[in-house]
Amino acid sequence: MSTTPPENPKPPQNPANTGQGTNPTAPRPAGPTPVSAPAPRPAGAASAPVPGAPRPAGAAPVPGAPKPAPAAPAPKPAAPIAAKKPVEAKPKPTGGRPKIGEILVSLGLIDEQQLFEMLDEARSSGKKLGAVAVARGLVNEDQLVKALAEQSNIKIGNLNEQKSQPEALLLVSETMASMYKVIPLTFKDKILSVAIVDPNNLTSVDDLRNLLGLNEVIPYLVSPTAFEEAQKKSYAGKEDSIADLIQELEADGTKGRRKNETSIDLESLMEQADSAPVRRLINMVFLMAIRDQASDIHFEPFEDEYKMRYKCDGVLFELPPPPKYLANAIASRIKVMANLDIAERRLPQDGRIELTIGGNRVDMRVSTLPTLFGESAVIRLLDKSVVALDINKLGIDATVLATFRELINKPNGVVLVTGPTGSGKTTTLYSALNELNVIEDKIITTEDPVEYEIEGLVQCPINHEVGMTFAAALRSILRQDPDKILVGEIRDLETAQIAVQAALTGHIVFSTLHTNDAPSTITRMRDMGLQSYLINACVEGVLAQRLVRKICINCREEFQPGPDQLLELNLTPEMVAGKKFFYGKGCDTCNNTGYKGRMGIHELLVMTDELRDLIAKEASTDELRDLCVKSGMKTLRWSGVNAIHQGLTTMEEIIRETVTEE
Ligand SMILES: [Zn+2]
Repeated sequence: MSTTPPENPKPPQNPANTGQGTNPTAPRPAGPTPVSAPAPRPAGAASAPVPGAPRPAGAAPVPGAPKPAPAAPAPKPAAPIAAKKPVEAKPKPTGGRPKIGEILVSLGLIDEQQLFEMLDEARSSGKKLGAVAVARGLVNEDQLVKALAEQSNIKIGNLNEQKSQPEALLLVSETMASMYKVIPLTFKDKILSVAIVDPNNLTSVDDLRNLLGLNEVIPYLVSPTAFEEAQKKSYAGKEDSIADLIQELEADGTKGRRKNETSIDLESLMEQADSAPVRRLINMVFLMAIRDQASDIHFEPFEDEYKMRYKCDGVLFELPPPPKYLANAIASRIKVMANLDIAERRLPQDGRIELTIGGNRVDMRVSTLPTLFGESAVIRLLDKSVVALDINKLGIDATVLATFRELINKPNGVVLVTGPTGSGKTTTLYSALNELNVIEDKIITTEDPVEYEIEGLVQCPINHEVGMTFAAALRSILRQDPDKILVGEIRDLETAQIAVQAALTGHIVFSTLHTNDAPSTITRMRDMGLQSYLINACVEGVLAQRLVRKICINCREEFQPGPDQLLELNLTPEMVAGKKFFYGKGCDTCNNTGYKGRMGIHELLVMTDELRDLIAKEASTDELRDLCVKSGMKTLRWSGVNAIHQGLTTMEEIIRETVTEE
């Protein structure tokens, strides 16, 4: 592997630039197409890329210790499980096995009195017993490893003798090793050995076997100190690089194999999908996307090239493109992982891939679509650990939030959250439901797909294939005696009518609509065919929202925008006298993007008698908006400008997200 320093992939869509030259964030020359980029990041203007530091500090999506296995069955594709797999290597994480304290006593390392004291401390501090023993100086790390190995029936490793072999390092990329918390040691005859620290990390061992298509993965237990030291050495100077991998693939392609794409038979497709380089490529893309908390991954065939992109904080980043001849193999590999029919290449298919990484479940919704130049695949990543569903943390302005709270606590009516795809509507509604989730009330949801699993809610997934549509689900839900209902989306008149009926019969109904702002939601429902009097009778409020990127607080700087830039937000220098503006210069923490994380901006329409009169007169969106603003509604643009002055986001973000408004 070469050690070419990483270059920056360019973001395919630049945030709207304001006033060329005067804006400090504007001059972001889109660099050449990235060639050896371990981590995607937008072309940063501020500082040079840092070789050897490909991942954003603190962005690792897999914090915390791995949990024991039971919850998440890992996908088990074709990989045969070796018959000779030693049974003792997979102890059940629960029941039966001796307690670590007992083992320490039986090894003569501590006495019973010490054990009781340690158990006390472990209980009150939440630490593991072994960690307490080491902290108290009663046992050293090696003795603890010995005890843990005995408890879990895992072999003890010695990293001074077992050095990582090149084949093993090639098979398990650095990204993969760090995410799965393993160090690859040897690789021969489809058997990989790895060092691990946590004996409960056996889910990772299973995942690796599946991902890499191995017969067996043998874990060796080592101490945390030994692990850290070896980890530093193993990959020293060997950057993960998609570009290197793609170069290998290209060299492979020029051997003249698989040139004829049009007549490909199933067997060779299967073989290609299963080939080690394709597996490695897909695994690397998946792991990088998960690590960077991407929301979607896109695999797109075009006439002359094949594109791989993924979306972080709402912006797509392009990865180095793999050779075009791999289009079929990549699509097939994804389909195999998602349990889809790889022979079917003329119809769209939907499936899912579930991975457990570092104890966190990552749910991947796969959708394939036949296009002019081959099958395109889009994968939505639902990392259930990332989101904390807390209505106080959505960035809603305090006064707006107080009003929204009043709305969601009404006994009946319809409350809508609107915005384009990816504007965080679902998160907002779930956060609302989370707050309303009390044992006295029955809450039923119907969703497509179910994005978050919340204890206490009855959640029904939509399944179009069998006729389980929003309308059908909603009709059945009403017979289940709910108090509060969430309908994933109102797409048609039928769903709208049933939602209205539910509201009129004493339920509070939450739903979403794809509209640009709050007032246009009213006209959209009317255009769907819902009569004005029904809208007036049940709609209590509409919250329109957008997600904008937050400025990285590590490299945030104040600046003074020029009149041209202000004009783009319909502001004048007089209007912003004394107000502050900020941008992110770019630093290691934010991958030189100047942004980290996202926040919502909101506009809340609350139904009033005046507004109802206007709706009854079939007023236009503009008339409705005028009245709302006159009676005090804070617009999306207002919310955005407010966030700018608070130093939370940039002018570019607000211009991009609220441009349709004016
Ligand atoms: Zn920064």
